[in-house]
Amino acid sequence: EAALQEEQFIGTIDQGTTSSRFIIFDAFGTPVASHQIEFENIYPESGWHEHDPAELLSSVEQCIEHATRQFLEKGYNKVQIKAIGITTQRETTVCWDINTGEPLYNAVVWPDTRTTAIVRELKQMPGADELRDLCGLPLSTYPSSVKFYWLYRNVEAIKNAYDESRIAFGTIDTWLIYKLNGGIAANVHVTDTTNASRTMFMNLHTCQYDDKLLAFFGIDKNKLKLPKIVPSSHMEAFGALAYGLLKGHKITGCLGDQSAALVGQCGFRPGHAKNTYGTGCFMLYNVGNKPVISQYGLLATVAYDFGAKGKPTYALEGSVAVAGSGVKFLMNNMGFIKHSSKITELAETVPDNGGVVFVTAFSGLFAPYWIDDAKGTLFGITAHTQRGHIARATLEATCYQTKAILDAMEKDSGHKLEGLAVDGGMSNSDLCMQTQADIISIPVNRPVMRESTALGAAIAAGFAVGIWKEFDELMEMNKEDRTIFEPKIDKAKSARMFKKWTQAVDMCKGWVL
Ligand code: ADP
Repeated sequence: EAALQEEQFIGTIDQGTTSSRFIIFDAFGTPVASHQIEFENIYPESGWHEHDPAELLSSVEQCIEHATRQFLEKGYNKVQIKAIGITTQRETTVCWDINTGEPLYNAVVWPDTRTTAIVRELKQMPGADELRDLCGLPLSTYPSSVKFYWLYRNVEAIKNAYDESRIAFGTIDTWLIYKLNGGIAANVHVTDTTNASRTMFMNLHTCQYDDKLLAFFGIDKNKLKLPKIVPSSHMEAFGALAYGLLKGHKITGCLGDQSAALVGQCGFRPGHAKNTYGTGCFMLYNVGNKPVISQYGLLATVAYDFGAKGKPTYALEGSVAVAGSGVKFLMNNMGFIKHSSKITELAETVPDNGGVVFVTAFSGLFAPYWIDDAKGTLFGITAHTQRGHIARATLEATCYQTKAILDAMEKDSGHKLEGLAVDGGMSNSDLCMQTQADIISIPVNRPVMRESTALGAAIAAGFAVGIWKEFDELMEMNKEDRTIFEPKIDKAKSARMFKKWTQAVDMCKGWVL
């Protein structure tokens, strides 16, 4: 009993695109209690994608209560939870009234493409060509700045609040931290460097807001309250939970979800990379302490910023908008399967894709293509085509985009990756991971403990309170117990498959609804 009470733990809030989780980790990175809740994804019109900010918050609150109760039932004590980390979906934009603390509109979610026309317009404006060098991101429908631009122009409540200087801007980390601290009473309005690097308001080199960027989007800082940018690991900045079972527990770590996954996979050295197959799929490649602005369609982003532990570390990122959401599409919209995990079984009813290629461009195509007006397109349908072929083609679409991203990363970095560490919901599919290895012709390795994203935020939080002191202490974490998928098909065949994909990408653009 006494020994049980001596162990130290960290709780992590993991707020993703499809679900929220709270996971309590021990000092070895092993989860001891967890709870997960799916919430509603709202698609009011074609290309629109929203979340209810109140539902995001309540799902997180419930996860904290349930997981903490589980933890207590195991005989542990609340004081053993030394810190709380938070990791969230990125770019998703929420605005609230600073007088009431209530949202002025639903959160506009990262794959939303209602901004396609605005992007076309913004690309013509003076200064558009300089943006990427300042912030690392190409002008597209993806970053928060463009989402806010739309909100200001189209939502009266937002325009009024802005004109009256009573509007706060946030990504989901900022919103949740604000609310969990008690809202207007505590008024904690912060974000970490990794989340801020996705807004397009932050200068990637200084890690502070950039007047040129703000001016480009017509933002007046006196009218729109922007969150203070702080390091991802910090003792004071993120405040503490104001209510609930863990009331008074400090939040000491905050990372965007993809950054958190890189940290959770211990990608601390330049050259380390990970690929997370969640709703979308995101590869991050650690490039060290200087940002690398991509010449081949990748994003430059902050990987993590542990404050006292040194300068910010940067990454090259390849973002794919549709991965697991393609599986959800086959389930919810097409009725092919009853549960996401059944996709593999369905795909295995046929030996190959039968000539079908599915460009799952539901949000246009992101990296490395950046084609805003691409639409989801199925090629190669014949009377022979079965659901299984389409299931395979859906899984393969993410694998091909990963291949295109890997090629771009090799060109930008001048290095060839020797292996790919993976995680995320869709990495549960052995078939998908084997296909991935086949298409990129390098081994894919998958940990048994796949909650890398949550673990990354726990690491950020744990560093702040001294549970861990050096990166080296973590290098062995989650290294054993990995499944390796070796490439099995010959390179000529994978090159042929990839060529078909490239041809399909060329043919899926310019279809204006
Ligand atoms: P997020 O953090 O973006 O919400 P997760 O990492 O939780 O994402 O993964 C959820 C996604 O993974 C869903 O889109 C779901 O369709 C997909 N998924 C979950 N399990 C499987 C599986 N066994 N095979 C294929 N896809 C899966």
